Amino acid sequence: MFKKIYLILTGILITVVSYAQPGPVIIPQYVKLPVDSVQTKKLISSLNGFLQQSINPTKDNTFSLKDYLPETAALVAEIRGMENAKNPDRKDFYKCYITNIMPLDSTTYIIQLAYMAVDGATPITRISIKLLARRAGDGYLFYSPLKRNTLNWKSKQEGNFTFYYRTSLDTAKAANYAKKAQEFDAKLHAPVYGNQMYFCDDLQQSLEVLGIDYEADYNGLTGADFSAFGNNIELDVMGTGDGDTYAYDIHDLWHDRLHHTIPVTTINKPVDEACAYLYGGSWGISWNDIFKRFKAAMPAHTDWLAAFNENKNFGENQRYHLYVAYVIDALLAQKIEKEKGFAGVMALLSCGKKEDSNDNFFLALHKTIGINRANFNTEVEKLIEGEEVK
Ligand SMILES: [Zn+2]
Repeated sequence: MFKKIYLILTGILITVVSYAQPGPVIIPQYVKLPVDSVQTKKLISSLNGFLQQSINPTKDNTFSLKDYLPETAALVAEIRGMENAKNPDRKDFYKCYITNIMPLDSTTYIIQLAYMAVDGATPITRISIKLLARRAGDGYLFYSPLKRNTLNWKSKQEGNFTFYYRTSLDTAKAANYAKKAQEFDAKLHAPVYGNQMYFCDDLQQSLEVLGIDYEADYNGLTGADFSAFGNNIELDVMGTGDGDTYAYDIHDLWHDRLHHTIPVTTINKPVDEACAYLYGGSWGISWNDIFKRFKAAMPAHTDWLAAFNENKNFGENQRYHLYVAYVIDALLAQKIEKEKGFAGVMALLSCGKKEDSNDNFFLALHKTIGINRANFNTEVEKLIEGEEVK
């Protein structure tokens, strides 16, 4: 729904660039290298390996320290493709410079990197990060400093969730969130996995805890979240504090839990959104209130099949959209769950990507509960009239 500006940004980048293997890092003369030249050579060579493999999923990166996989995956998602400018003609526009190598002890270093370029007379930093490097065997492995950066944070355990926070945590909301996740997982027969949620006070803090000192894509923005999955843990670094309206958004929680259970390619998006409306509302509006707005926007005895196909937005505006088809799907899903159990809803949810014809959807609907294009109007009318409004 609203989620993750960074995904949108990354999505745009993916469409305009293909990830070529990054070139070796540049070491400016001013960088003071560690005295042990043999180890330094190994460190730089491992770092180049890590960056070259950053185009692949981080779990497959042979230079990433696997104990810290989810946070390293979230950090690598941010540096992936950073050598390319947004203009597709400017591939490899930014060069990766080492700006500092700071020994922490005999086997661990903080490495600072910056992707920089000069455009005409203007110096530009695309991203500037800190990575930790630890000696392992004959080389070095790299990881995000998230754990080191949050050592003094408080934490609270609720079911499979660990909530980390620096200042405050809304314990009631956190407990409800974990409980809802458990409810959804029980419905879905979802796999069991851990969840770590880091509530940062603002976007700058969330960037910093992951290891990002600066990233041009977030210039002027106030909120974004970062997620990654690894070591059977879903990591969420929330960049707006736990007081934010969407910090514990049950609508998106539904999407997350479903998307961990069945392949996204099989999911019918309108039915997924419909269940999210039903179980978690939308934009902070409860299902009951969404339905009230729907009733106010749609005249009685409408041609529901036509309305379903037209799928008008009756939300406040384009951003805070609410869609007619999602409400109708929600009523259908509710009926199916009551009469056939959740397995019936699952059949509809996984009928395949939305087709223009909606043939796959209507086939599944007919099979599950006997509703088809011929009786759609009568059946939907009954559901709308029968839906209790509080
Ligand atoms: Zn949604």
